[in-house]
Amino acid sequence: MRLSKMLFVTLREDPAEAEIPSHKLLVRAGYIRRIGSGIYSYLPLMWRVLKKVSQIVREEMDATGAQECLLPQLQPSELWKESGRWDTYTKAEGIMFSLIDRQERELGLGPTHEEVITFIARDTIRSYRQLPLNLYQIQTKFRDEIRPRFGLMRGREFIMKDAYSFHTDAASLEQTYQDMDRAYCNILRRCGLAFRAVEADSGAIGGSGSQEFMVLADAGEDEILYTEDGKYAANVEKAVSLPPDLQPSPFTEYAKVETPGTETIEKLSQYLQCSATAIVKNVLYEAVYDNEMTVLVLISIRGDRDVNEVKLQNELVRLAPQYNAKTVISLKVPDETAQKKWAAKPLPLGYIAPDLEDNYISPAKEVLPQFLRIGDKTVVELKNFVTGANEVGYHVVGANWDEQFSLPELIVDLQTAKAGDRALHDPNQTLISARGIEVGHIFQLGAKYSQAMGATYTSEKGEEIPLQMGCYGIGVSRLAQAAVEQSYDKDGIIWPVAIAPYQAIVIIPNTSDQKQVEAAEKLYQELNQAGVETLLDDRQERAGVKFKDADLIGIPYRLVTGRAIAQGKVEVVERASKNTQELPLDEVVTILQQWIEQAL
Ligand code: ATP
Ligand code: MG
Repeated sequence: MRLSKMLFVTLREDPAEAEIPSHKLLVRAGYIRRIGSGIYSYLPLMWRVLKKVSQIVREEMDATGAQECLLPQLQPSELWKESGRWDTYTKAEGIMFSLIDRQERELGLGPTHEEVITFIARDTIRSYRQLPLNLYQIQTKFRDEIRPRFGLMRGREFIMKDAYSFHTDAASLEQTYQDMDRAYCNILRRCGLAFRAVEADSGAIGGSGSQEFMVLADAGEDEILYTEDGKYAANVEKAVSLPPDLQPSPFTEYAKVETPGTETIEKLSQYLQCSATAIVKNVLYEAVYDNEMTVLVLISIRGDRDVNEVKLQNELVRLAPQYNAKTVISLKVPDETAQKKWAAKPLPLGYIAPDLEDNYISPAKEVLPQFLRIGDKTVVELKNFVTGANEVGYHVVGANWDEQFSLPELIVDLQTAKAGDRALHDPNQTLISARGIEVGHIFQLGAKYSQAMGATYTSEKGEEIPLQMGCYGIGVSRLAQAAVEQSYDKDGIIWPVAIAPYQAIVIIPNTSDQKQVEAAEKLYQELNQAGVETLLDDRQERAGVKFKDADLIGIPYRLVTGRAIAQGKVEVVERASKNTQELPLDEVVTILQQWIEQAL
């Protein structure tokens, strides 16, 4: 492609709306343009990158035996009502765009395709002989994200590869899950990315496993905790660890003491000259279930640890049946307005004890009249601990379970794992923190959707059994931007060769020099004929402008038909290393072909 004929517009200034380097660079280098909040156009250079990523994904999926298809983006609400997700997706979480057509039918724009694919499975899969099966598509998804940001990283319209597999049993599902794990590693390796596969939160779906694939980058929204021995890596939402050893409490006698102005653990441990590990911290949460029931949750956790809200949410969803509900739609630390709704009297915030009385909750129809008391595992072994006295300005010291307080009946792991904690699998290993961009997620769904939607198969014995399912997603457009976030310098993007829009760019420094033009034209023809995807910068611009633009758009190899052509040579610059060398004009094509082959 000739730059003179191309839609090629680069910007000198960083766009005001962009916060992270990859977003700035993709806009400045003319790859993408913002059309609205979370809505982007992929301009020709970007589209080439996306097609390359998609092709790598396609090849690796096909290699596992998965079959490509294309499912509708417009999805009837009936399907989502069958699975029970319509209300959660359109109202509670509000992630799904929905609309009403001229016949008054309700439709949603696909944020994901479990419902559609389960409908197809119900319609087409009859016998165990048809299984296992794995179907995938590469397509635009729609999600009304609360905070669209970072360009293609969190768009409201984005490209995803999603695959769905169907099985007779858990063992077959596990096998395909492993195949997908390998395929994902191949895809990310081939795209030239540094990544880590981590244990992920499977949310309320449960199932026996879920893994995320994280591209390592400082701007990543996710925190990963891993050990050096390579045996453990998890999203912080899911991570488990051994907390630091506790320091013995200095208090041996139970007493109530005045502790003015100690509403935080830090102030309290300083005031009492005791370790935060000797304190039982009591944290209040307000959970609202999908049947509008409000449950007030009082969590007792060791003073130096924090509540992991994802773990808490999962536990509360697990308890939902006991409140005749299916799921939790909101979970937060109650603010003043929330407290006004249910608090019978002002709460001793910052001074709460594990036995805070239920009469703080004023009787109301949609509020559970008792606190749901949960203990984090870290509080079980505490002795002579410090905790609140249920009175502002006072704490108790030297307290013990079964003496002054009873240990909550429900004990679960709710703590947030942190860098520096010891690993469960080997206490000699400590957790290390890194930031990542989630580009893929694989998931064992089990029978969640097949059961709800009646998708069954007939077994060898003639029984009707719900299909076992897995689902596997890769954010194609997010992955492309993540590659930039991982690889750029002060001059611009440095594309991995495998997904660069073009592999080489031939620059004519001076378009009025006929010799330069001829040499460049010849090279451009030969390179393209040899299968090297090549741009020709034949614009009537200064050489400096052309070099700057080539660096900005990040093409792996730059060839300059400058002074050296008099000696039958061309200057070749590698974008990543800026290494420059002069190569003979009649050999450069073969050499470049070799370099590219090696890089792929
Ligand atoms: P996140 O936690 O980042 O919101 P998710 O867990 O909701 O993502 P999945 O439903 O697992 O995402 O979707 C599969 C993949 O699609 C993700 O791993 C990610 O790469 C991509 N993806 C999800 N949401 C977006 C988005 N808003 N913009 C771009 N890519 C996205
Ligand atoms: Mg995910």
